[in-house]
Amino acid sequence: MKTCSSCPNQLGSRNKSGRCRSCSARALNACPHHAAKRAAGIARAASTPEGRAKLAANARKLNATYWKEPENAVRRSEHGKHIYATVLCRPDVRELNAAAVSVAAKRRWKSYLSWCPPEHRAWYQHLVRSKHVRAAEAKRIVLEHVASEKARRKAERTFEEKLALLEQGKATVSNNLRIRSPEPSYSLIGNSGGML
Ligand SMILES: [Zn+2]
Repeated sequence: MKTCSSCPNQLGSRNKSGRCRSCSARALNACPHHAAKRAAGIARAASTPEGRAKLAANARKLNATYWKEPENAVRRSEHGKHIYATVLCRPDVRELNAAAVSVAAKRRWKSYLSWCPPEHRAWYQHLVRSKHVRAAEAKRIVLEHVASEKARRKAERTFEEKLALLEQGKATVSNNLRIRSPEPSYSLIGNSGGML
């Protein structure tokens, strides 16, 4: 039995590289020329819809088989923790991520939900995403509701509430009764108060 040139693993009788599978993979991955070639190959494969579908199918297959193996799952999880601790936790990376997220969120609200009162945004999104109502139709439903709520609130105000609004300066007196004197706007004693 031969052993791997880089580790104590034993090699099969037909092995030609002198390295076990993981050591030869590690040696290849350490080679920049090989890495560049592989990256170019992946980019080429991902440049067409069919290629992307194939890559996705491969990833799905690996997920269902290779990454389900307990030791591979542990390795992946350890690698994730390593990336989190060494990259994602870095203050500069965190800042970049937070900035990207808040910019995207702001753009989203600004562009397509600015018309919607904040308290109805969840409802609107529920209509569109869960009930599959078309966006324009959902918008019409929400705006109609807002208008009817507003009308209802206004109609429901009692005399006392109206008086309170008036005292707070939030309402003005509207007097639709026009009391006009049939007389012309002047008086015989010379003041022109009637014209003011
Ligand atoms: Zn080895």
